[in-house]
Amino acid sequence: MTPPPDELVFAPLGGVGEIGMNLAIYGLGPERRRTWLAVDFGMSIAGEEHLPGVDLIYPDIRYLVEERRNLAGIVLTHAHEDHFGALLDLWPQLKVPVYATPFTAALLQAKRAGEPGAPDIPVKIIPLSGRFTVGPFDLEFVSVAHSIPESNALIIRTPHGIVLHTGDWKIDPTPVIGPPTDEARLRALGHEGVLALVGDSTNAIRDGRSPSEVDVAKTLGELVASAPARVAITTFASNVARLRSAAVAARAAGREVVVVGRAMERIVQVARETGYLEDIQEFRGLDAYGSLPRDRILALCTGSQGEGRAALARIAEAQHPSVTLDRGDRVIFSSRTIPGNEKEEGRVINGLIRQGIEVITDRTHLVHVSGHPRRAEIEDMYGWVRPRIVVPVHGEALHLSEHAAFARKLGVPEVVLSENGDMIRLAPGPAGIIDEVPAARLYKDGRLLIEADVRTVPDRRRLSFSGMASVALAVTDRGELAADPEVELIGIPVHTADGETLDDIAYDAVIETFESLPRARRRDPDVLAEAVRGAVRSAIAQHWGKKPMCHVHVLPV
Ligand SMILES: [Zn+2]
Ligand SMILES: [Zn+2]
Repeated sequence: MTPPPDELVFAPLGGVGEIGMNLAIYGLGPERRRTWLAVDFGMSIAGEEHLPGVDLIYPDIRYLVEERRNLAGIVLTHAHEDHFGALLDLWPQLKVPVYATPFTAALLQAKRAGEPGAPDIPVKIIPLSGRFTVGPFDLEFVSVAHSIPESNALIIRTPHGIVLHTGDWKIDPTPVIGPPTDEARLRALGHEGVLALVGDSTNAIRDGRSPSEVDVAKTLGELVASAPARVAITTFASNVARLRSAAVAARAAGREVVVVGRAMERIVQVARETGYLEDIQEFRGLDAYGSLPRDRILALCTGSQGEGRAALARIAEAQHPSVTLDRGDRVIFSSRTIPGNEKEEGRVINGLIRQGIEVITDRTHLVHVSGHPRRAEIEDMYGWVRPRIVVPVHGEALHLSEHAAFARKLGVPEVVLSENGDMIRLAPGPAGIIDEVPAARLYKDGRLLIEADVRTVPDRRRLSFSGMASVALAVTDRGELAADPEVELIGIPVHTADGETLDDIAYDAVIETFESLPRARRRDPDVLAEAVRGAVRSAIAQHWGKKPMCHVHVLPV
């Protein structure tokens, strides 16, 4: 028998077919004896889906847990939650080294400090443009512009060829902070020869180029200068370039910056520690807010998505202990609405407008730009790197398929569309899907992690839709009722259209079912419970049109 060939493979465990929870693995070696490298460890926010009680979604890492002895390390491309948000909760199952640039490492550390009990992850800090090895992988960071400091593409050199894992990127020659996308390095890489590019599809459906962060800074400058009274700017806290632009606009207009919201405070502190706000004035504490004249304030607030617990929503409802807005003040949403958040955000915006506060969004002004490449930028990147294979990732099905079609149009010889869990062989031989690995989702539910395919959340959704009937029966060993049955309805209407109570209807169904059963079957608790359950659900459904969940306890006495 010939031994299995030495291969280079890639498998997305998250982030393909969805925006969020990016987790990719690369494997080197023959089947069953591969060494793995993980790139990013992200989470999703559950907001877009109806998952009552669940806030966060993580990739299911059971495959990595099985393979953890062969997992050489985890590399983080940048500090967005969809790239590193699952690490604190899932790392203890792996305990492998983590590699990141200074800002990403500092933000992870700050996040850990805010979560009691979070693990102390030893992060190996790699400088910008640093080259390092992880197991058999020869790695190098390439700086790319994005919407957070220190976003990196990752060059993965292997005996089978070079992979460029783009991470999140755009081409912005004037990104306000940090270096622009390192075109020279990427062109040089193209000369070295690139086997495969695994890349960001988020904006592959959009023509042209993303505007620059500098254009947003200019608009913010004008809007802050022309504001008659207070100004509040809300944005994604991690967008330090935007915070900086807001601070510069404030200084030019003679306003003091007050930071409102814990996530924003945390980022500001990390950005100061890592040197990204070095020439920016000190910000004022919340206590200064009340004492400054209205035209001398700029508040930087969390809550651009309308999150109920964030600063802006509380200010809009006049619930914030130290920050208020009044008629004539101006609020700028320097952000975009993430799909699924429209309602919450709309509630905050409408609340502000009803109070006579002016609201400015990206619908009418250039107050936000995306951090992802549009088609002309993707075309530039492919021109520089000239990959033989392209694997679209970081996108929903539409983004991935448009990215694939565009790559083919640009002359990329091999394009592979995949789903989470597909294992793609990149070399040797033609690229293609050769296997599948387990890839599912985990829900963060309170303090616990639960598998997405268990009944917990579907049960909770059913409860929220049609309530529950609870029945308790005490039955003697002769098959008779020892007492009246107990019936309790939760989340079910009290009266039928005819004015009967559903309580009585359920009770009658219990008694009728009990009496209709032969004595021998009444003595079998399982048979009795099942019969009563069916009868109660049907009886309620007849009047209500909905079948509740029903739980029957049979107590032998
Ligand atoms: Zn990102
Ligand atoms: Zn991302």
